[in-house]
Amino acid sequence: MNAAPPPPPAPHGLWARLRRWWGQAPTAARRPFEPPPLPDALWQSVWDSHGFLHGLNPAEQQRLRQHCGQFLHQKEFHGAHGLVVDDTMALAVAQQACLPLLHLGPAQPEPVQAWYGDFVGIVLHPGVALAQREHVDEDGVVHEWHEELAGEAMHGGPVMLSWPDVAEAPHSAEQGYNVVIHEFLHKIDLADGEADGCPPLPAGFLGHRSARAARAAWFDVLTPAWQDFREQVIRAERFGQAEPWLDPYAAEALDEFYAVAGEAYFVNRARFSEAFPTVLRLYDAFFRREAIPDHRA
Ligand SMILES: [Zn+2]
Repeated sequence: MNAAPPPPPAPHGLWARLRRWWGQAPTAARRPFEPPPLPDALWQSVWDSHGFLHGLNPAEQQRLRQHCGQFLHQKEFHGAHGLVVDDTMALAVAQQACLPLLHLGPAQPEPVQAWYGDFVGIVLHPGVALAQREHVDEDGVVHEWHEELAGEAMHGGPVMLSWPDVAEAPHSAEQGYNVVIHEFLHKIDLADGEADGCPPLPAGFLGHRSARAARAAWFDVLTPAWQDFREQVIRAERFGQAEPWLDPYAAEALDEFYAVAGEAYFVNRARFSEAFPTVLRLYDAFFRREAIPDHRA
């Protein structure tokens, strides 16, 4: 970028410094924004803790780092209930949130803006968050309750994450669990405004010329995989049969299966490929991760 001098260290964290830096950059002759590089020591310490990233090749690692710079520039972190969000926590979220974007494109605008541009805020909670729920039953009686959430994402709104669940990521990859990737996969699903378990598909996806045919092909793979999973969950609950790999929460709805399967796909590809070979091929076609070597976290 143009040679605006770096600002003095600021007390409000890395993402605030990145935003301030951009604010000082000259607007004339503006080139595509490139945030200042992330500090090596910070990048490395967070990277080291995320073993599920270690199968990325050097070019992918470099791209992830660029995406994280964009992400930290564009997003604002908030700690709920007095939680102080430091640079390490923000970068931990960024590294995981940007992983699905590695091969997605588009180049312009860059992928972070293209896929995650509908919101700015990321709220970290010191524990599970309580979301207010309301349901009006057939007699018109309003039922209100609080639902415990590890995370939540909605179109046009902030992403909410339980920090203890985020911090669990290095240890829960074996189970295919990753709350950050889960919520940001919902954002990718929601990019067309619909929470239906099918992200907007590019022209020519799986050889289909029309978007309608591509969507149909997507559901032709995902829906039976979800139905099989639901059957396994039901058999486990009712008849004590073996529980399927993956959080049974994925049985609740197709869009949840898409996200739960997706987090497992990204953090434990080897195990995922055994359990969901058809979905593996589908996700490889969409996320274009064929080149990434297999690894176990
Ligand atoms: Zn979900």
